[in-house]
Amino acid sequence: MQLDSSNQPIAYWKGLIHQYASFLPVTADTPVISLHEGNTPLIKLDRFVSAIGGDFDLYLKFEGLNPTASFKDRGMTMAITKAVEKGAEVVICASTGNTSASAAAYAARANLKCVVLLPDGNIAMGKLAQALMYGAQTIAIRGNFDQALDIVRQLGETGKVEIVNSINPFRIEGQKTASFEICDQLGRAPDYHFLPVGNAGNITAYWKGYREYEQAGRVKGLPHMCGYQAAGSAPIVDGHPITAPETLATAIRIGNPASWQGALDAMQQSSGWIDKVTDEAIVEAYKLVANTEGIFVEPACAAPLAGLIASVRANRIPAGSLITATMTGHGLKDPDRAISCAAQKPDLCDANLDSVSRLIGL
Ligand SMILES: *Cc1c(COP(=O)(O)O)cnc(C)c1O
Repeated sequence: MQLDSSNQPIAYWKGLIHQYASFLPVTADTPVISLHEGNTPLIKLDRFVSAIGGDFDLYLKFEGLNPTASFKDRGMTMAITKAVEKGAEVVICASTGNTSASAAAYAARANLKCVVLLPDGNIAMGKLAQALMYGAQTIAIRGNFDQALDIVRQLGETGKVEIVNSINPFRIEGQKTASFEICDQLGRAPDYHFLPVGNAGNITAYWKGYREYEQAGRVKGLPHMCGYQAAGSAPIVDGHPITAPETLATAIRIGNPASWQGALDAMQQSSGWIDKVTDEAIVEAYKLVANTEGIFVEPACAAPLAGLIASVRANRIPAGSLITATMTGHGLKDPDRAISCAAQKPDLCDANLDSVSRLIGL
């Protein structure tokens, strides 16, 4: 086996810090903590687009194929790497689930203590399973994400713990690499980029990434950024914080986004929009992308897909546009929701050929 200077097989993907080091705050001496995140596929959807009556090219950036099955790994490889570089011993985050899964995994890999604060009862089972398995101290608070983040901010001020929420600027730095990959994969920037908006770190990061790539001369042009919140937790669209946010898309169940201004800047500077969709529309899109394309995402990802459906109906997208949309997390994160939303339950029958044949209609 041929090895490179860091003793890794020469031809394998070494993770996004290695790939995009020149765009990131790292040096040759930075102790990189990686699970080989990034390099996720762009998947072109044809059946979905014709089902919704669209006349454009749509590619999904399937971030559910990262090591802990959400895009949070992009920010976390940077945040944990920088925490190790500065000698931190304890990392902490508030989370609707995926940040905790990712923090716990990267902390395990770096041999750091990890503490996660979760809203009791509003976290998908897969995410909770991950935090527990990776060995994080897992604290369920009787409250919501915004309250958990508030506590984490106060703990951060003691200087004894390193916060790895997206208020940590290194998270945004790592996450912006998704824009680089999209541009590299397409050979250009898309015309529109759709994504869900919760705490708004990701829309902030994507916009930063697209601008930096354009400034570096890697692509010409920039996409319109189109963010979607759930109707019951749409503080940016409604113009004020929501004290009791509600939506079945728990990953975006956030009433007071930390990167609110970043989201507004992305929207305004890109001539895009931030809009909201109902939970019913989210469920419809969630099922449609699974059964027309074989792509199983978690409900939050269906918010921008529902937004795309609404945009087609409103004639908001010029024919022939090139659209990308981020599928932030894998559907297996939230199996309970999937089973409760699926149109059918398993057919039950006796264990013989006749019974099965009759059920299939043969
Ligand atoms: C974190 C998360 C979001 C929201 O991202 P923000 O950066 O908080 O706006 C959306 N979808 C999934 C699956 C997530 O884990």
